[in-house]
Amino acid sequence: MNRVPELFGSMVFNEAVMKERLPKDVFKALHKTMKEGTALDPAIANVVAAAMKDWAVSKGATHFTHWFQPMTGITAEKHDSFISPCPDGSVIMEFSGKELIKGEPDASSFPSGGLRATFEARGYTAWDPTSFAFIKDKTLCIPTAFCSYTGEVLDKKTPLLRSMDAINKQACRVLRLFGKEVKRVTTTVGPEQEYFLINKEDYAKRPDLILTGRTLFGHPAPKGQEMEDHYFGSIRPRVKAFMEDLDDELWKLGICSKTEHNEVAPSQHEMAPIFSTTNIATDHNQLAMEVMKKVADRHGFVCLLHEKPFEGVNGSGKHNNWSISTDEGENLLEPGKTPSSNAQFLLFLTAVIKAVDEYQDLLRISVASAGNDHRLGANEAPPAIVSMYIGDELGAVVDALVSGEDYKDPAKNSMDIGVSVLPPIPVDNSDRNRTSPFAFTGNKFEFRMPGSSFNIACTNIMLNTAVAEELRLFADELEQAADFDKALTALIRRELKDHQNIIFNGNGYGADWPAEAEKRGLLNLRATPDALPHYTDEKNVQLFGCHGVYTKQEMQSREEISLDEYAKTLHIEAMTMLDMMKKQIVPACIAYSSAVAQTVATKKSIGIDAPAEADIVQKVTSKTASLIALQQDLETAVAGAPEGAQPAARYYCDAVLPAMEKARAVADELEMLVGKEYWPFPAYGDILFYT
Ligand code: ADP
Ligand code: MG
Repeated sequence: MNRVPELFGSMVFNEAVMKERLPKDVFKALHKTMKEGTALDPAIANVVAAAMKDWAVSKGATHFTHWFQPMTGITAEKHDSFISPCPDGSVIMEFSGKELIKGEPDASSFPSGGLRATFEARGYTAWDPTSFAFIKDKTLCIPTAFCSYTGEVLDKKTPLLRSMDAINKQACRVLRLFGKEVKRVTTTVGPEQEYFLINKEDYAKRPDLILTGRTLFGHPAPKGQEMEDHYFGSIRPRVKAFMEDLDDELWKLGICSKTEHNEVAPSQHEMAPIFSTTNIATDHNQLAMEVMKKVADRHGFVCLLHEKPFEGVNGSGKHNNWSISTDEGENLLEPGKTPSSNAQFLLFLTAVIKAVDEYQDLLRISVASAGNDHRLGANEAPPAIVSMYIGDELGAVVDALVSGEDYKDPAKNSMDIGVSVLPPIPVDNSDRNRTSPFAFTGNKFEFRMPGSSFNIACTNIMLNTAVAEELRLFADELEQAADFDKALTALIRRELKDHQNIIFNGNGYGADWPAEAEKRGLLNLRATPDALPHYTDEKNVQLFGCHGVYTKQEMQSREEISLDEYAKTLHIEAMTMLDMMKKQIVPACIAYSSAVAQTVATKKSIGIDAPAEADIVQKVTSKTASLIALQQDLETAVAGAPEGAQPAARYYCDAVLPAMEKARAVADELEMLVGKEYWPFPAYGDILFYT
């Protein structure tokens, strides 16, 4: 049975459909826009819109929406129907070019971080023709960018597209130096998405999961992941059915979901698509997260995308596999077969190494959130320190280049990068260091710090722009060189020497790494409030300004929104804990100890001593008293939160989070003292080891 080709992309207004449904000249014009990133001719918009509508209606769609990615939240949509009333009382289905190209959602309910006063709340969305329109829930969704009327960017897609343009421009300059004229260079991404599946019934009984996405209480289950039997283990039939259904739904949307397997933790799984251009990969990942939640629901599951749903159990990340390639399909991070292509490869590699070293802070910021803080630096995810792994073979090449004597030395000629004698670079693409946050895996880099719930746009904006900047500097220098080979060798050698510090092939989870990293001068921005204030450091403002990706105000607004989101997340978590303690945990403890006390009294009344039972009553009673005290401490801590995003974020991290952890520790001890039928929520063991 092979229904995949038929299914694949059946809900997407893709190139094949365009070709079939659009007049030749219109298709040609649209195609040019898509391939070369040029502006869309408004004259053809009406024709495209009409064809799109007819196609969508034939697939059962009744509505359309501009689908966009605001600065927080997953995606936003505002549905309008195609229906247009006629004077005779009937209706026709209409969709104009104007509606396709531009939408005007009320922007005031989306966070703008002070970018936009409410009186000028209007913003507009503009179609991004490089990402195909698709049908979801009987609605034609048009991927769009979102801006304010004064031009500030209010979403994640616009800066991503700008960063792709920036790297395109600079990479083309560099390639020209190697005698290559290419039309376009794009960055490609394949994001591996981790998630948990748990039973709907268990989820419904846990206010913490419902309100915050993670468990705020819970003693570890008797069995954890120590047997390592879940990873690549056989997939439970119910989960298998979910995965099959998920694949179908993703394929319909043109998302190439390829591998699905279990992950390290019990009930944890992964979905990896085949890579595509960064823009489309981002749209698809946003869609995939949404589809996962919907399909899970149909199978009696809830899909958890939080970075750390269960304490003491592996968290979920999203590995951002990233590379750069030309429109002719040449992967610029693929070591070549000839010395000259290797020289080009080494130059791009050097650009990435330098970019990661100089913009460590931005990469860390791109993955900063309250949820991901529980993951980074714990003994399961890369630490909060950004470093790179390039493998032994490439490491040896870099070492030789760095330590190599000067160009003239004939004995060392074998490491001359100049187009003459560079040896083939053997690259082992087995990925042997799983502890590195940023690993070279043969022909791409895998950035492992992003959290499972993140929009990958931010990470890729940082990466694209930082690498664009290094390529710009390289091109500036090399375009001036009298002897290209010589200048190239000198540049690569110099830059690798200056930025070798960021390369670390050892164990990123090791206890001695943070000290070693500090010696190397690498940043260790542990928590979100440590990282975010670096966003608007002068060098970063310069970077984004120079490449036209963000203005300083746009950066300030993003910093503000993220800090605010951090403080709000912790606030909600603290309030949820207080609610659960007051209304559920403390009453359960009292009920249980009262019941046992009753037993002690009954036994005593017939002359039987019950010291063990009395001991339980004693323990539960005194621990409950400690819990109530800690609950009050937490309440006091929350009440003391200051105004303002930055002070509040700092305060929640330093004062509220520790109070939450203390209260949780005691509640988790109580869970082990109180009878199961008295405990108000399903335990970790029940949730994670369902059948
Ligand atoms: P892992 O061993 O890390 O689980 P997988 O092979 O399952 O790796 O996934 C690797 C991901 O990297 C896939 O999504 C794949 O499409 C993606 N990938 C492969 N080549 C490139 C490339 N040139 N650019 C971006 N992503 C790529
Ligand atoms: Mg991976």
